[in-house]
Order: sequence, then structure tokens, then C-alpha cells
Amino acid sequence: MAIQFSSEERSWLDQVALAAKELGLETYLVGGFVRDKLLDRSTKDADFVCVGDALALAQLVANSLKPRPPVSLFKTFGTAHILWKGEWDLEFVGARRESYQSDSRKPTVTPGTIEDDQLRRDLTINALAVSLASDRFGELVDPFNGLKDLKDKILRTPLPPEQTFSDDPLRMMRTIRFATQLGFKIEEGTWKGICAQADRIRIISQERITEELNKILLADTPSVGLDLLYRSGLLERIFPQLVSLRVAEYIDGHGHKDNFYHTLQVLDNLSRNTNDLWLRWAAVLHDIAKPQTKRFEQGHGWTFHGHEVVGGRMVPKIFTQLKLPLNEHMRFVRKLVELHLRPISLTKENITDSAIRRLLFDAGDDFDSLMLLCEADITSKNKQKVNRYLSNFQLVRERCREVEEKDQIRNWQPPITGEIIMQTFGLSPSKPVGIIKDSLKDAMLDGVIPNTYEAAFEFMLEKGKELGLTPVSSGGK
Ligand code: ATP
Ligand code: MG
Repeated sequence: MAIQFSSEERSWLDQVALAAKELGLETYLVGGFVRDKLLDRSTKDADFVCVGDALALAQLVANSLKPRPPVSLFKTFGTAHILWKGEWDLEFVGARRESYQSDSRKPTVTPGTIEDDQLRRDLTINALAVSLASDRFGELVDPFNGLKDLKDKILRTPLPPEQTFSDDPLRMMRTIRFATQLGFKIEEGTWKGICAQADRIRIISQERITEELNKILLADTPSVGLDLLYRSGLLERIFPQLVSLRVAEYIDGHGHKDNFYHTLQVLDNLSRNTNDLWLRWAAVLHDIAKPQTKRFEQGHGWTFHGHEVVGGRMVPKIFTQLKLPLNEHMRFVRKLVELHLRPISLTKENITDSAIRRLLFDAGDDFDSLMLLCEADITSKNKQKVNRYLSNFQLVRERCREVEEKDQIRNWQPPITGEIIMQTFGLSPSKPVGIIKDSLKDAMLDGVIPNTYEAAFEFMLEKGKELGLTPVSSGGK
């Protein structure tokens, strides 16, 4: 079987084939590029393996392609990289044979044949190679029946699974990630290998684990991966807080829902409407504090009071533990976890404009994300119930739109700043400044005063008077 390439792909492939011929190097295109090509998935990362000096090959390819920036040669690793036309990542490496020690995923590497190189790959579908030799250009080299596994949608290791996963436990995460991204089944022996080696994940750096976790979360149906991680025993090692949601308790015949599978369903629901990784993380974490806040109240059943607040506090800890960035993404996730019950409380009758303004003010630019999360949080099996909740949320959205049009709360900045308050009353930074600021905000959100400078200034003067303050200047009015 021979693979067909587009003319754009031929523009660099032909140069690699030509250089390989000139140097007399047996050269192949391998791994993810071949897999994705056969699956008709678009891909821009191409890995070349040659039996011999990959640096010489890359240098010769660069001489004809003249890439900008110039070729990068990594002499210590024997690898090279060319970024071609700003979009194609061409990686060059010599065929290698690997042997592993038990305490590290860094193998001892020696030069090898193409078969050696294919054997060290994680899955048969990732071990496919395409020859670039002029007499067999495009021919598939497939010693482990990877093509058949690709057609049957099967993930299987080329070597005995226990060895493959023990050598490099990151491959367990990769296998589950591919099962999630591609919708492939993990072959039984391979699955048993993952379950048996799950504990080995401890030798993998958190960054690499989290990279795979993020790829799982970005798949169309992320629940597939989280469920596989759970059932293999990996999840309790890499993210125990999520596994704690699994425990359901019964008292007096009252159970509560399984919050682990509920969370997975929320995540899938949400993933139909957004590709935003951080919003998806908010779904993963929205109920994370339910185990800590769970109480059984006689006559009431199970309650989880305050789980949004405790959950919000857990976000920075979990981000630190998973080595996720502690920046505005973390603050966004925390905010959504903290606010995720607020829109529900607005679906009751007789909701005041003031309550709507407060939600708009607190959610700000993240209002739409919050509503997506809340809508995804409806996981009842009862269709009628779901539709009723959804139409309630539709009403909340409409009310919010009306109030926002009228009052423009979302990005509201108080027209009277602390500076102005201090100038007006001749104060230095002190408690009364904060009191006046807060009461101004409340007056505005409660609709006591309109959202204008003049109204706020008048209000400030009155509030000052109440506090026994006298204006010393007009405050730059
Ligand atoms: P993606 O690019 O979507 O992450 P990929 O399979 O292309 O998936 P890369 O990291 O680009 O992953 O690696 C390219 C190839 O290198 C893989 O297809 C596989 O053959 C091999 N490979 C990568 N990581 C490993 C690993 N941990 N163990 C064995 N082989 C690996
Ligand atoms: Mg790749």
C-alpha cells in the first residue's frame, strides 16, 4: 500500500527524499504524521527517521529549502528541526534502539535499524513508517499490523504491554488520550497492562501528565478519557480529589447522586458548546468540594452547603498540584466555581433587578461562560425537567440582557474613585473611604441611584455627612 501526499506536502517531502538519496541514507516518515494522514486528520508535524546521521540529512535538506528561521541542530541529542513556511514542523532523528532502567523514563539510546525504532514506539498505530527511497517512495512499512489496528480502531502496544508501559509510563496517559481523541478501543491485553502498571505513573513529571490531561479535556467527549483514567487506577494517583466525588452514601434510604459521573456529564454537555480549555476545567472542578461539605440533614436529605465557596478555595491548590498556570486562567476557573450556583437562584419567581445587577457585576465579562456552565450542569434524565430548567435559564439570560442594556453593569467601574473620596473630605487612606466606596457600589447595584457621576457624587456627600465628614474641596467635579 502506498500513501498519497498533497502537492504542498510533496514540496518538502521530495527535498527530504532527494537529500536522503544523495547521502545514501535509508529514510522514513514515521509516527503521528503517518497515522493522522491515514485517518484523514490534518497534521503539520512530520517526523523523519533515517538510519544514520540525522543532522547531516537535515543540513542538506535545509541547503535546498533555505528555511527561515534556519535549521536548528541539536548536536547532543542528534536531532534537528526545520520550521517550513511557518507551518510545517519537520523533525529529524536517527533510528535508535532503546533500553530502560526501572527508575526513569529516560532510556539508554544506541543507533539501531528502522525496526528497532518502530519497536520503541508506544502503539502499533504510531509505529507506521513510510519509505522515502526512490524505488519505493510512499510505501508503508508496517511490521506490527498497525494499519489493520487503525482500520479496526484498536490501540495496542507493539511490545508486550507491561514492558511498554513500565519502560515509559507516560504511554499509559497517551493511550488513554488517543482512545479519547480518536474514539478507539484499547485492546484487552493493553488495557490490563495499563491497570497493572498504573502505579508507575509516579516516575512521570507532573507537566507531562497534565499535558495529556489537557488533551483529554479538549477532546469532543472528554468523559471517555476521565472514565478510563478512573477505571485504570491512574486517576486516583494523579487527581485524587476527582475520585473522591465517586463515593455515594446512603442514610435512611436517602442517596445522593454520584458526583463523579455527574461531573463527567456536565463536562461532556459543556464540551458540545465550547472548546475553551479553562471553561472545561471549571466544569471539572465545579462540584469538587462536595465531599467536604456533604451533610445529612434529618428530614431534608443530603446537602452540600457552601461547596461553591470551599471549591473556589480548592482551585489554586489543585492548579498548583497539577502544575497548571497560576494566572488569569486560574482566577477565571475559581470565579466560575464560586459563581456556579448564582444563576440558578435567579430562576425563582419575583427576581429583582438588583439581584440581576449583582450577578452581572460579579460575573462581568465571564457572564456568558457562566451561563454555559450552568446550562451544562443540568443532568437530569427527565427530559421535561431539563427543558423546564433550560427555559428558566433562557429567562435569566433575557432579564440580564434587559438590565445590562439599561444599566451597563458588566464592566462597571465606580465613577467615584477612592482618590476622589479622599480629596473631597481631605482623608488619607482609611476605613471611611472603604465604607463610602462599598455603600456607593451597593446603592448603584440596588438601583437607589442611577449609574452616573453626578448621582454618585451627591450620594458620596450624603454618606460622608452621615459619617460626620465635611467636604474640603469640590473633588474635581
Ligand atoms: P500528537 O502530536 O497528537 O501529540 P503524536 O503521536 O504525533 O501525537 P508526538 O509527541 O508528536 O505524538 O510523537 C510523535 C511519535 O513519536 C508518536 O507517533 C510515536 O510514534 C512516538 N512517541 C511519542 N511519544 C512516545 C512515547 N512516550 N513512547 C513511545 N513512542 C512515542
Ligand atoms: Mg505529533
